[in-house]
Amino acid sequence: MTINTQRLQEAIALAKSQPGQLLIDGKWVDALSGETFDTTTPANGQVIRAIAKGGPADVDLAVAAARKAFEEGPWSKFSPFDRQAVLLRLADLVEANWDTIATMDSIDLGNPIVRTSAAKRRSVGLLRYYAGLATAIHGDTITNSFPGNPMSYTLKEPVGVVGAINPWNGPFGMSVWKIAPALATGCTVVLKPAEQAPISPIIFGQLCLEAGVPPGVVNIVSGMGDAGAHLAAHPDVDKIAFTGSTQVGQRIIAASAGNVKRVTLELGGKSPNIVFADADLDKAVPAAAMAVFLNSGQICSAGTRLFVENAIYDELVEKLANFTKALKVGDPLDLATELGPVVSQEQMDRIMGYLDLGREQGASVAAGGTRVKHGGLESGYFIEPTVFCNVDDDMKIAREEIFGPVLSALRFSDVDDVLKRANDTNFGLGSGVWTRDIGRATYMSRRLKAGSVWINSYQLMDPAVPFGGYKMSGYGRESGTEHVEEFLNTKSVWIPEN
Ligand code: NAD
Repeated sequence: MTINTQRLQEAIALAKSQPGQLLIDGKWVDALSGETFDTTTPANGQVIRAIAKGGPADVDLAVAAARKAFEEGPWSKFSPFDRQAVLLRLADLVEANWDTIATMDSIDLGNPIVRTSAAKRRSVGLLRYYAGLATAIHGDTITNSFPGNPMSYTLKEPVGVVGAINPWNGPFGMSVWKIAPALATGCTVVLKPAEQAPISPIIFGQLCLEAGVPPGVVNIVSGMGDAGAHLAAHPDVDKIAFTGSTQVGQRIIAASAGNVKRVTLELGGKSPNIVFADADLDKAVPAAAMAVFLNSGQICSAGTRLFVENAIYDELVEKLANFTKALKVGDPLDLATELGPVVSQEQMDRIMGYLDLGREQGASVAAGGTRVKHGGLESGYFIEPTVFCNVDDDMKIAREEIFGPVLSALRFSDVDDVLKRANDTNFGLGSGVWTRDIGRATYMSRRLKAGSVWINSYQLMDPAVPFGGYKMSGYGRESGTEHVEEFLNTKSVWIPEN
């Protein structure tokens, strides 16, 4: 499936007509250094456009604007109903501008355009969900045992200035996921989007202005890791909401120590997906494949360790290989495409390294296994969706996060043994169990050390259902009412009767 160059050029022209500067205090500005960086499309490596390269000095200005908006208003004077109205307007604007947003993520990240209807439901849903919660935040009245029976109650207050730092694998959706709950609580935000796919987060800034978000409430500083590091260490930032790699997450914890800021971390994963012999294989096979190949494997909770019960191992691997070989890899803007390119040359080289390592360490390739070097895709970063079989737990492909379209199929024969092996990882983000036995599904779901357990399904997500990690996949929860708590302080108030 070759790249349709005319359609790509039209999309690039559309990208050039969008804002590409920093959003600070309600104004579009160049970086103080005057520097820019080019964002490219992974479909063929072509430059899409230049984007302002914000650095530490720009972060300082953005944090000052966010502080002023938080302390002096008008944001601090917005009632919960006012904030709700802003979020609902924002949801309508995102819905109305969806085609542009989807096209931008398609060319900047390589995301197949066909995935975008689900992404639209999610982004618009998140905004409407948090709009609802904006008016539902409340403390408690608490009975206590203190002599004299004083009254005690709690107030919920916004933590203040939030630094949001995002990865590239969901540029628009993740910007909404960070900013919407912060706005619902009355916080102000400085967002540092990922340098690999900055276009759609900047568009979100534009929509915030159109929705009536006051100056300084949402600031967007596109740039490199140094801008993120400065935000994480900034003494006037009250909380960092970070999604990205575990290595950078660890640096964020260290950087946050200076002013003991609140931190939530959504980090990497190496999630187990376990298929028992009694599973409905017609459902399990495509779901297990797409648990990894969605977004070309660039999903933190991808079910990359597929544990298959011995009795059905050969059958399942054969079906999985056939399903995988039939997936359409190609032009992300083509509606028929199921897998686009991976985000960058660097990411492609990393993944190719793991493909070599898998073979060297003795795994067999059941499907894929190479870069796509034909059909007009040669200059893009396309990798065949790959199924490795005969994989052992100790192989690097079974232990390390690859963040590419690479699935490892492992054998098991005993429930408790597979549980132990599934949990034998530093990560704990997603997990899946395929069985018709409800008792076994319950047994497994209680014992898997992961923030999400999907039974006879994978990767289901909803604004109302919390998502997050165990162990080195991070802490804190996003989505659901727990997410809003991450942006709130609890203040206890005591009043004696006399
Ligand atoms: P990354 O950690 O390299 O970068 C993430 C962001 O941090 C980028 O904006 C980057 O510029 C910034 N950054 C880099 N160095 C920094 C520093 N020292 N201080 C502060 N910020 C810094 O991650 P990535 O390569 O963009 O994304 C892939 C990773 O993200 C994978 O490990 C994946 O599992 C993870 N991820 C996790 C979730 C989740 O919800 N748990 C979701 C998506 C992605």
